[in-house]
Amino acid sequence: MDTEAARERMVDRLRGREIDPAALDALRTVPRHEFVPGRDAGAAYADRPLPIGGDQTISAPSVVALMCSLLAVAPGDDVLEIGTGCGYHAAVTAELVAGDRADAGGVYSVEYDPELAAAARDRLSRLGYDAVHVRVGDGHEGWSEHAPYDAAYLTCATPEIPEAVVDQVRAGGRVVAPVGDAVGRFGGQRLVRLTVGEDGIEREDHGGVRFVPMRGGEGD
Ligand code: SAH
Repeated sequence: MDTEAARERMVDRLRGREIDPAALDALRTVPRHEFVPGRDAGAAYADRPLPIGGDQTISAPSVVALMCSLLAVAPGDDVLEIGTGCGYHAAVTAELVAGDRADAGGVYSVEYDPELAAAARDRLSRLGYDAVHVRVGDGHEGWSEHAPYDAAYLTCATPEIPEAVVDQVRAGGRVVAPVGDAVGRFGGQRLVRLTVGEDGIEREDHGGVRFVPMRGGEGD
């Protein structure tokens, strides 16, 4: 498989939608097939979610691109991710915060499943994504040591965006998350963007999405 050509076609199909050109460049750069275990590598460049083990999924490229566009991170930014999964979305974000600057930003990613976290850590380090830091934990707590972040996002759906995550984002920063009740396995979820202000939080709806439910939280 010519993976570079496959990536180029994937990005071509996303053009014309409301996607930030920097996000398209990042998608063109990250070798998505390296993140999809075994037999699904051939499907890595189709625009659909794929299984990554442990009953979890890697999001479709168009969803990653949309979330990156909404998050609008810049080179040098520090970003909190909840739900590392296979590490693909984190690698895309790492491309966006790296730029050419010496003081490149970092991606701080919390993963609930220790096996997925270990696999993602190995994969990211093998591919040279040293700017991504993975920690096993419950994303309901965020990752306070590296706060405040310029932006944060969740790749698992929750009825309410965890307060700790919002608190760890600086004023002027953004949070993007799939929000909704998991009715059945996947519920009716909306992609929500919060903009954290000095005196309050602005909330926008960016359409229907389907993500795996967030685990853990109080009483779990
Ligand atoms: N961004 C990922 C997709 C991850 S799927 C990628 O590019 O592959 C959602 C991930 O969220 C799963 O790996 C799941 O284990 C994780 N997750 C679920 N609940 C979580 C929680 N409370 N804290 C951190 N991660 C969680």
